[in-house]
Order: sequence, then structure tokens, then C-alpha cells
Amino acid sequence: MSEKLSFVNPTANSPWGTYLSQVDRVVPYLGPLARWVETLKRPKRALIVDVPIEMDDGSIAHFEGYRVQHNMSRGPGKGGVRFHPDVTLEEVMALSAWMTIKTAAVNLPYGGAKGGIRVDPKKLSLQELEKVTRRYTSEIGIIIGPHTDIPAPDVNTNAQIMAWMMDTYSMNVGGTATGVVTGKPLHLGGSLGRVKATGRGVFVTGREAARRLGMDLRGARIAVQGFGNVGSVAAELFAEAGAKIVAVQDHTGTIVNPNGLDLTKLVPISRTDGVVGFKAGGDVVPNEDFWEVACDILIPAALEGQITAERAQKTTAKLVLEGANGPTVPVADDILAERGVLVVPDVICNAGGVTVSYFEWVQDFSSFFWDEDEINVRLDRIMMNALNQIWDTADKHKISLRTATYAVACERILMARQERGLYP
Ligand code: GLU
Repeated sequence: MSEKLSFVNPTANSPWGTYLSQVDRVVPYLGPLARWVETLKRPKRALIVDVPIEMDDGSIAHFEGYRVQHNMSRGPGKGGVRFHPDVTLEEVMALSAWMTIKTAAVNLPYGGAKGGIRVDPKKLSLQELEKVTRRYTSEIGIIIGPHTDIPAPDVNTNAQIMAWMMDTYSMNVGGTATGVVTGKPLHLGGSLGRVKATGRGVFVTGREAARRLGMDLRGARIAVQGFGNVGSVAAELFAEAGAKIVAVQDHTGTIVNPNGLDLTKLVPISRTDGVVGFKAGGDVVPNEDFWEVACDILIPAALEGQITAERAQKTTAKLVLEGANGPTVPVADDILAERGVLVVPDVICNAGGVTVSYFEWVQDFSSFFWDEDEINVRLDRIMMNALNQIWDTADKHKISLRTATYAVACERILMARQERGLYP
């Protein structure tokens, strides 16, 4: 007998509701391990913290911060920290759960965790951003650590923020604990290849999926939503492979060019002015038009819940590569499947970032650093092996790649759960 969680009220398409329905779909494939599945439907631990800082104008501001450790059956918690005005506990819970599935899907010795602060970092000065980061780190310091829970970058966080987190934690424990966060600057125990790793993983899994579908990447038309660290890097790698980036959307708007946008110009302009700053290279269109642009591959690389039922009906893509976490709501997943659109799910597609985070953590502990080729060769191998295993599972049971990824991952997590046994 299990009571429902009292502190969330998920809806069908909310992030936690989406995650719960993804877990429900895998239950028939878990055999006797299904007995343990409830463990995946609730976080192990969730911390809400107050983050007060003195603003530059002398006023005191309070922000709400979270760190959720969803599951640690297979190892320490692992997952990013996001700074966004819409962050909620429920969203962070879902993101932490997707980390549990993701780390298990690529067989990294981690559980899943995630953090966030409900703040718009674009409205903070650099000094205010540092204060928010440091106070938040100190508040969650009671549950993070190099062997317990290791944060990393996510939406609107970067290497500088990781450096402040590492320094704050280190000052509090009285040493230098480089292994407490990943995605750090190179001088501070960061890893070569980490910045591009998530986008690279999207490309590697996408290239393999296209090959299996018999789709030639040369001339393939790609639409990318979100042009940050994930979307822009994936777009560049696909363009290098001969694909045409025909539409890009970010927080400033949507730009399209059926002949392909020139990324050598778009990428630098987007960093300062957003993608609509590149008016000279394409047409700026209303945001909703993005979903019906003629394309072969769609890469959602922004936030959750973007591919709704309506947008799933509209898309002309044959292949969806989930660079973002949780971009497709369950009903849209079904529509895409009915329409014969293949989805490479987030929990494998964007696992390149956490995979190189793992390499960074291992390098920090051994104090021996690998060159970029070694990182990329290992990353590609892990991603390809994981994808092939998932594909075989999907073929065997005639299920979607998402449910197959959950089947592979949940078996690993719940086996560990069963073997450890319940304490006391
Ligand atoms: N934030 C990234 C993700 O969603 C990376 C997490 C990590 O490196 O720990 O997978």
C-alpha cells in the first residue's frame, strides 16, 4: 500500500505527470522487478532552500532554490542546476528522475538528482549572480558532495557558475574539492570536450538513427528549437556532415531559410542578439510557424513540454532528436508513433553531457587528464553501445525507443534496489 505524494499535483502533461506515465509504460516489461517500481515514482529526498541576497541597490531579495535526489541505488546523485524564472519543485523532481533513467541507460555509476533556482539570471548583475550561486550552494551543501551528489551545468548555468559552486563548497569543508561539481573551467579540474558533449551526443545518436532509417544526412533538412549549448553544437555538427539547418528558434524568435542558414554567421550573432539578430540570413517568422517548417529532422533542445499533440500533428519531420529534457508530452509521443515519426528520447539522446561529466569526475579523482580525442572516442563508444542495446530491446518487444530505454535503465536501477534490499 502506497499513499500518493502529497506535495505535488501532476497533470497529464506536466513534467512529473509526463515522467510518471513514461514509467507506467515500462511496467509490463520489468517482470518480477515490477514489484520495486514504486521506488521510481517518488524522489528519495527533496530540499527546498531560501536564497536571500543583498542586491546592488541595497535591497534584500529572496529566491527559492531546490535540490532533489531522486534515486541513489546505483551511485551518488548526479544532475545539473538550472536558473530559470519558471523553475518549480515539480519540474526539478521530473528532471532529477530523468537523470536517474539517463545515467542508468548509459550505465554510468550514478543515481539521479537535479537542482534549480527560481530566478531570471538575465536580470541579475554578475555580482548578484555570484551571490545567488554561492548562497544556494551553501544551503544545499548539507546534501551535496563528491561522493553523495554532484551538480553540473543545465539551462542558464555554465562553467563560471560551477567554479563558484566548487569554491563555496570547498571553503565550507576547508579544502579543495574539485569533484563536487562537473562542467568546471579547464583550469579547475574541468574536462576537455565537456562543453560540446551534449550536442555531440545528440549528433552521434542522431547520425546512427538516420543511418538505420536510410536517411542521408547530406542535404537533410533540420529544424532546431533552442540554440544554447545543446542546439547550436548539434546544429554545427549536422551542418559539417552536410545537413541544412532550415529553421532555428530561441527566446528571441524564429528564423527560417529553406536553403540552409549559414551557421558560421548565425552562431556568433545568436550569442549576443539571439537568432533573430541574423535577419540578413533568413526570414523571421511567427514562433508557431516553426512547427510546420518542412524538415526531415526536428531537434527540440530547449525546455520541457514543447511537442504538444497539435505540434506533433503538424511536424513534417521523420526523426525527432530530444536534445532537451522532457520536450515531448505523452499524448504527442503516441501521435508521433502513429505517424511513423521516430523519436530518439532525451534519456539517451542528450546523455553525452553527463557522460563527459563522469569522465571529468573520474579525471579529478585520479588527477590525470585525458586529451580531447580520448574523451570523444570514449563518448562515442558509450553512446553507440547504449543506443544499439536500446534498439535491440525495442525490436525485441516491438516498443518505442523511449520505452526500450526505460526498460534497459529500470532493470539496472531496480536490480540494484533489489540486491541492496530495504533498510532496515
Ligand atoms: N544538465 C545535463 C543533463 O540534463 C548534464 C548533467 C550532468 O552533467 O550531471 O543531462
